[in-house]
Amino acid sequence: MSCLFCSIVSGDVPSNKVYEDELVYAFYDIDPQAPVHFLVIPKEHIPSAGAVTPENSAVVAHCFEVIAQVTRQLGLTDFRVVSNCGLQAGQSVPHLHFHVLAGRDMTWPPG
Ligand code: AMP
Ligand code: ZN
Repeated sequence: MSCLFCSIVSGDVPSNKVYEDELVYAFYDIDPQAPVHFLVIPKEHIPSAGAVTPENSAVVAHCFEVIAQVTRQLGLTDFRVVSNCGLQAGQSVPHLHFHVLAGRDMTWPPG
């Protein structure tokens, strides 16, 4: 199975890494939508937020620990975390990822 974000985790596709541990990888978005825009992904292939189960949910909690840690290290107190699930919601890469956006005013509701 070919998956862009699995290829980023393996290093086959280059990325601008923000953070890595045994469970999670984080890297800057190639098409940033804010002055700071990075993605936090589980190394394990989970297709979307709709595919989280009791068996794989621990890594999701870990993603949020990483988000708190990395934003703290970057000095970000205000930021938005987004996960698009499905085509209608704007998901373009079918590997669970959390967008972390910061550095500008955010509008609500999102488009
Ligand atoms: P989504 O559209 O919510 O599935 O988010 C996928 C994100 O991945 C988009 O914001 C893209 O800009 C980003 N993206 C796609 N390819 C790459 C890449 N090679 N490196 C970094 N970010 C990427
Ligand atoms: Zn994948």
